[in-house]
Amino acid sequence: MSELRRDPLSDRWVVIAENRAGRPDQYQPASARRIVAPCPFCRGQERETPPAAATYVADGQPTTDANWQVRVVPNKYPAVRADLPAYQADSAVGETRAAIGAHEVIIESPQHLVSLSGLSDRQVELTFTAYQDRLVYWQRDDRLAYGLIFKNARAAGGASLEHTHSQLIATPSVPSEVARELACAERLLGSYGACAFCRLLDEEAATGARIVAEDEHYVALCPYASRFPYETWVLPRRHASRFEDVGRQPLQRLAHLVRELICRLEQIVSELAYNYWIHTAPWGGENYQRSYHWHLEIVPRLTRMAGFELGTGYFINPVSPEQAARRLRSASDERIPSDEAKFSVQKN
Ligand SMILES: [Zn+2]
Ligand SMILES: [Zn+2]
Repeated sequence: MSELRRDPLSDRWVVIAENRAGRPDQYQPASARRIVAPCPFCRGQERETPPAAATYVADGQPTTDANWQVRVVPNKYPAVRADLPAYQADSAVGETRAAIGAHEVIIESPQHLVSLSGLSDRQVELTFTAYQDRLVYWQRDDRLAYGLIFKNARAAGGASLEHTHSQLIATPSVPSEVARELACAERLLGSYGACAFCRLLDEEAATGARIVAEDEHYVALCPYASRFPYETWVLPRRHASRFEDVGRQPLQRLAHLVRELICRLEQIVSELAYNYWIHTAPWGGENYQRSYHWHLEIVPRLTRMAGFELGTGYFINPVSPEQAARRLRSASDERIPSDEAKFSVQKN
């Protein structure tokens, strides 16, 4: 049976249609072709990327090219860039602006690993620290209004290089997905008199049906109107609008939880392609401190967007979030050990 569901925090509708899960697929994806070549993100290949904007080393170690653990570099093929002159034009065919912004790559490991699940908790924590630092760094540029941290893992997740990495793109305006969430959150604050995400957490806790994991700081759940099979959100228990302000200990817990969730997802679908991104409050101006509640959204890439999704903005999801949460709760959070060996790249 199918059901239409609306997410109150984005006003987006989805179609939960479990009957579609069994339909035949004549287009099994061919395994992505890999080019065996030196990887520009591996240790020893630092000259293949622009010079680092920041490097992170193990505690107490000096920073050198030989011992970095996490490395932030400008994207070699940026979508937006900070060094453009501003211009703006408007006509009946559309509006034009210089693509001013920042586009950086956060290389999560000196070793050639393809998923966050292969990292240690400490390594994930360094990566998340880099996320915070780069967001804080780009906030000082008053031309920029928003910074999105996101990750594309594996080919179907949009990664062009398999070495585990994330990206930051900062833009002069607040992206429309975020603007939509902010508008819903403001409106719901007006009607509830409280943060809508906090209310959602209370209601989810009451049934537990969509909760995947929780600890003293965070709740991981499959959202009621999940767009994608096994879509999982991580929300802080305590109300906070900005990811950048998370302290060291809760950041350690977040690193552990996100790695654990990716491990669980990969236990269900091996070599899973996925994305995640962090939705935090916009910079400057109105800061949505009361209404907005930062969170991290993990989206496995098991379905393709097709005509209906593109034509309507509705999503069809063949796995209900209740079933997804049940399976994720019972999946083991052990790493799949073959990952590292299987994807090691031969160097010339
Ligand atoms: Zn590599
Ligand atoms: Zn809240």
